[in-house]
Amino acid sequence: MQRERLVRGFEEGMTVLQGLIAHGRGEAFDYLIGERTIPEALSAIKAGAAALVLASKPVISVNGNTAVLCPEELVRLSEALNAPLEVNLFYRSEERARRIAEHLRRHGAERVLWRCDAEIEGLSSERRRVSSSGIYASDVVLLAIEDGDRTLALKRLGKRVVAIDLNPLSRTAQEADITVVDEVTRALPLLTAQVQCMQGMSAEELASVLEGFDNRRNLGRVLEHMRRRLRELSGQSG
Ligand code: ATP
Repeated sequence: MQRERLVRGFEEGMTVLQGLIAHGRGEAFDYLIGERTIPEALSAIKAGAAALVLASKPVISVNGNTAVLCPEELVRLSEALNAPLEVNLFYRSEERARRIAEHLRRHGAERVLWRCDAEIEGLSSERRRVSSSGIYASDVVLLAIEDGDRTLALKRLGKRVVAIDLNPLSRTAQEADITVVDEVTRALPLLTAQVQCMQGMSAEELASVLEGFDNRRNLGRVLEHMRRRLRELSGQSG
């Protein structure tokens, strides 16, 4: 179903060919984690929710793949956080951004930013364009299926980055502050539920959840999970 959605998204001018290839990379890593949300992802979801609830200007970055795969989940998270969705494309064209924004609105989104009037340093041409009232002004950015250069550029701008990425070795996964190694359609509803659950917590409690999370260590545990699983599958464990 996901592949069909992406193919339809391509035909409708929302996803690009490179996005289909990126999805294949994600599927390969999903096999390695066992196509389920692992405990290390749940820890990261908890830390990510704390960062988003604590943020004064959180923004949810949306690309062609995420818009097509899980528009309802993006809208629900945007409502729970009272945060805008910003269409942020690696292969940007006005037409593509507008189509994705319309698609999100058809799924109930009320706050969608898709026109760019600001630039982030250190990136070439169309890839650097963002909205001045969205990502540019934000303190915390949630992104998924994102390229490493842009994640690094956001970090250099001083943003706290929460990433959803199935590849624990990608630059995005390695450079984000909090990396949820999980499939985006599985992770988003869990993140929304965690956000709703944390909205009653004090800033001190949220800060202590954040402080207790170490992204490098968590990514190491994800790799260890994969190693253990491959040993079990190959009959080499024990
Ligand atoms: P980087 O530039 O960060 O080193 P990359 O060159 O793979 O990595 P992209 O192609 O932009 O950069 O990354 C897409 C990432 O999204 C890949 O790491 C892929 O594993 C991941 N991915 C693809 N589909 C999904 C999905 N449905 N859910 C979560 N992650 C996904």
